[in-house]
Amino acid sequence: MRTLEDLDVEGKRVLVRVDFNVPLDEDRTITDDARIRAALPTLNELRERGARLLLAAHLGRPKDREPEFSLRPAAERLSELLGTEVKLAESLDSVPDGDVVMLENVRYEQGETKNDPELAKRYAGLADAYVNDAFGAAHRAHASTEAVAHLLPSAAGRLLELEVSTLRGILEEPKRPFVAVVGGAKVTDKIGVLDAFLERADEVLIGGAMCFPFFKAQGHSVGDSLCEEEGIEPAARVLRAGTDKVQLPVDLVAGQEFEASTPVRAIDGVDVPEGWMGLDIGPSTAERYADAVKDAGTVFWNGPMGAFELEPFADGTRRVAEAIAVSTATTVVGGGDSAAALAQFGLADMVDHLSTGGGASLELLEGKPLPGVEALT
Ligand code: ADP
Ligand code: MG
Repeated sequence: MRTLEDLDVEGKRVLVRVDFNVPLDEDRTITDDARIRAALPTLNELRERGARLLLAAHLGRPKDREPEFSLRPAAERLSELLGTEVKLAESLDSVPDGDVVMLENVRYEQGETKNDPELAKRYAGLADAYVNDAFGAAHRAHASTEAVAHLLPSAAGRLLELEVSTLRGILEEPKRPFVAVVGGAKVTDKIGVLDAFLERADEVLIGGAMCFPFFKAQGHSVGDSLCEEEGIEPAARVLRAGTDKVQLPVDLVAGQEFEASTPVRAIDGVDVPEGWMGLDIGPSTAERYADAVKDAGTVFWNGPMGAFELEPFADGTRRVAEAIAVSTATTVVGGGDSAAALAQFGLADMVDHLSTGGGASLELLEGKPLPGVEALT
C-alpha cells in the first residue's frame, strides 16, 4: 500500500478523503468529534509539507441534498482544531481557493455510491494528488474512495495506514493467547468475523444479544430476548466447528422491557423465562471473561456484552471493558457502540487501538479485500 512517503505534495492541491461521519444531535451539534481528530496527523503532515487541502467526506445517507446532512458542522469543528479557516464548497462547480477547503457531503452527488467514473473524473479534476484517510469508508467502492484513486497519484493517509497495519498485525501475528470478545445485537452481522476468529484466535467469548441464537440452537428457552431467527443456523454451525474455543455466558441479567426502569432479575444459568429478556451477561460470566482478557497476549473486542445504554444492564460490558483497559495485552476495539461504551465508562484512552471503522474493521479481519485499500496498492 502506498503511503505519504510515496507522494510528492509540495505546492500541490491534495484531495483528501476523510471519515467525518460524526454523530450529531437535534441541533446539529457534533456529539463526538473523535473521527475529525483522528484525521489531524495526516492533515497536519500534508500542510507542513506545503500542500493545500481539498477535503471530501460523507455524512449519513442523504437521498437528496437535504440540509441536515450538510458537512458544515464538521467544517466548523475542523476549522477550530486546525486554527485556520476551512471553506465549504457548496458545489463541485464552484470550489473556492484556499489552504483548506471542504467539499459538501459527497453523497449529495448521484454517482458517489455507484463508484461512477464520470464523478471520479470531476473529483480528480479538482486536485493534483489523492490521499485516502477514511478507513471507516474503505470497505465501500465509491467514487471518492475507489474510482478517484486510479486517476491521480495516490496514497494512504496516516490513519488508514495505522488501522490497516494494526488490524492485519493482530490477524497475521497476534501475541498469544489471542482472545476475541464478540457481542452486540446480531450474529448475522458478525458471522464472518466469528469464522475468522475460530480459525485464528485461541478463545472466542460471546456476549450481547448475539448469544441467544446460540442458546436457542442448544435448546435453551430465550423468553422475550432479542433473538435473531436467521442467526440460529449460523450459530449452530459455529458451535459444531469451535466448541473448544467458543465460550458462552453461564449467567444473565434480565428485564421485562428494554428500559432502565424495568424490573430486573438475575438468572443463574441461561434459560430465560417467558415475559423476560436477557439484557446483560451475569456477574460470573463477566468475571470469567475478565480473567481470560487479563491473561491474553492480544485482545480484540467488538460488540457490547449487553444493553449498556441502560444503567441496570451496563455492568457486564463495564467489567469486560475495565479488564481490557488494564490488560497488558495488545488491545484493539472496533465498532461504534463498543467505542461509545468505552467512552461512557471513561476508558477510551486505555486501549492500544480504538478503530474508527466498524464495518471496515470487521471486513478486514474477515480477510476480505477492502476496495479503498486495494486501490492504493
Ligand atoms: P458495535 O456497534 O460495537 O459493533 P452492535 O451495533 O453490534 O455493536 O451492537 C450494539 C447494540 O447491541 C447496543 O445498542 C446494545 O444495546 C445492543 N445489545 C447488546 N446486548 C443486548 C441484549 N442482550 N438485548 C438487546 N440489545 C442488546
Ligand atoms: Mg453498532
